[in-house]
Amino acid sequence: MKSSILPIALQNKLAGYSGYSRVSSAHLSALNLDLLKNILFILFILRYTRKTFYSLRGYGIFGSIRNLYISLRLFCYGLFLRMPGVRGQVDKQVTEAITKLEAKLVKSGPDVTRYLTLPKDGWSTEQVRAELDKLAALEHTRWEDGRVSGAVYHGGEDLLKLQAEAFGQFGVANPIHPDVFPGVRKMEAEVVAMVLALFNGDSGGAGVTTSGGTESILMACFAARQRARALGIKKPEMIIPDTAHAAFIKACDYFKITLHRVECPEPEFKVNVAHVRRFINPNTILLVGSAPNFPHGIVDDIPSLSKLAVYHDIPLHVDCCLGSFVVALLKKAGFPSPYEEQGGFDFRQPGVTSISVDTHKYGFAPKGNSVLLYRNESYRKHQYFIYPDWSGGVYASPSIAGSRPGALIAGCWASLMNVGENGYIKSCTEIINAARKFETAVRTDPTISLHMEVIGNPIVSVVAFRSKNGAIDIYDIADDLSAKGWHLNALQSPPAIHCAFTIPTAKAVDQLVADLTEVIGKELEKAEQRKREGKSYVLNRGDTSALYGVAGSIPDKSIVGKLAEGFLNTLYKA
Ligand SMILES: *Cc1c(COP(=O)(O)O)cnc(C)c1O
Repeated sequence: MKSSILPIALQNKLAGYSGYSRVSSAHLSALNLDLLKNILFILFILRYTRKTFYSLRGYGIFGSIRNLYISLRLFCYGLFLRMPGVRGQVDKQVTEAITKLEAKLVKSGPDVTRYLTLPKDGWSTEQVRAELDKLAALEHTRWEDGRVSGAVYHGGEDLLKLQAEAFGQFGVANPIHPDVFPGVRKMEAEVVAMVLALFNGDSGGAGVTTSGGTESILMACFAARQRARALGIKKPEMIIPDTAHAAFIKACDYFKITLHRVECPEPEFKVNVAHVRRFINPNTILLVGSAPNFPHGIVDDIPSLSKLAVYHDIPLHVDCCLGSFVVALLKKAGFPSPYEEQGGFDFRQPGVTSISVDTHKYGFAPKGNSVLLYRNESYRKHQYFIYPDWSGGVYASPSIAGSRPGALIAGCWASLMNVGENGYIKSCTEIINAARKFETAVRTDPTISLHMEVIGNPIVSVVAFRSKNGAIDIYDIADDLSAKGWHLNALQSPPAIHCAFTIPTAKAVDQLVADLTEVIGKELEKAEQRKREGKSYVLNRGDTSALYGVAGSIPDKSIVGKLAEGFLNTLYKA
């Protein structure tokens, strides 16, 4: 009997049930083992039934069948691409494409010297300066003329000079030693406080600074996971809009969180909140909305997401990385602000527990600056890393990095103080006016509006548009604009391009409209010519068309993956 793990009373009951009045201990052990097996089996089945139930509820019957179909198709394509003849051909094409990319990105020629080892004796200051001038002048897409979407969030020459001064003064500073650099600690805390106030955090609000939007998002997801873990959730799941930033997917990958992406249906292109609700289950650790998202510049229905978050007691992160100081100041600048009638999109919504804000975007701080805000300290504490037993001493750090650049914090603080609320309202006005001007042109210009349409109803700084009637491939437009020196973003599903307006691009908006009209005319002509010649396909397509049009249409993304890997390798070719 001693070997049994069941209580005596239960053993007797079981014994009685199976018809024995008096049983030997050997009998009972066998019985217990059987019972244990059955219990384990039932638990196993229950677990899978539960999983299947939640998956079915989330994706629906047709969605589940579709998922199955997609996996099957992917599998078959994978087999196809690995067939001997096909594989060689694919590898050859990929190598060619990467070689082409290298030739474009890695500058070479007689006037380029490569430095692959340390100079024996250090260069003179003058020598280094001269070389830096050369590097800055390498041929590049002209952001200075406002031809680059997003990318350069520039606050003016004077601000750049001030930032450089701040760097100079705090070059060695490191907030990991607050006693050595008390000024940096003060500035960092004040940056968080100022941004918190912009997003209507109350007196209990908290936050951290990070190295950029991606780290802010990683930390928000990590904190939500750690919080859930403390509550006993072992298999965390997250629900994000399809249009949420890739950093959320990265976070799920890094921190082993199951990801559910919810569609953002036409015509609004906002996340389908009813569908978000269907994905919620006891393992859900975080809901996400963007204000606005990167692809289309659309603000998700934050008030409805907040209601869901409150009802189910799940944290809600609002990604204002891009919107940053523009979305926060729309109202003060006299523009419509998202969901103002329903209480806004920030901490005024009771369900919002964290917000990411990139000071290095419309805050015009030097690159490498972002802020992650929390409703209160009880959410923030879960992102801290604390290790009391380290041989190097008790270790505690707020975010991913250990040592951090005090110079960047000083640069950020200097920017916020120098531009000030009125300065940001002025830049918001300039940027939004340009975005609306461009949007209006796409909607009303006789040539553009005939062939292009704006995606959704953007109210912030990004305007995305796509081909309307299929007469023109939007990726050809992207390539034509590139040839004219523009660097807009190509988007997929649906195929489109966008422009994120900044101070430099705002000044070039008329040129953009003119160039867009011109390339549309050119593409129409080409289409006419193809029709006359009876060709249905296009030869010699540009880079964007090649990546999204051809490679993108193959369900197996391993080719795109290889190209992307080649691209990343290229970044480190000295
Ligand atoms: C830029 C951006 C981020 C974060 O990007 P980083 O490049 O890491 O700063 C996150 N979300 C949105 C919507 C963005 O536009």
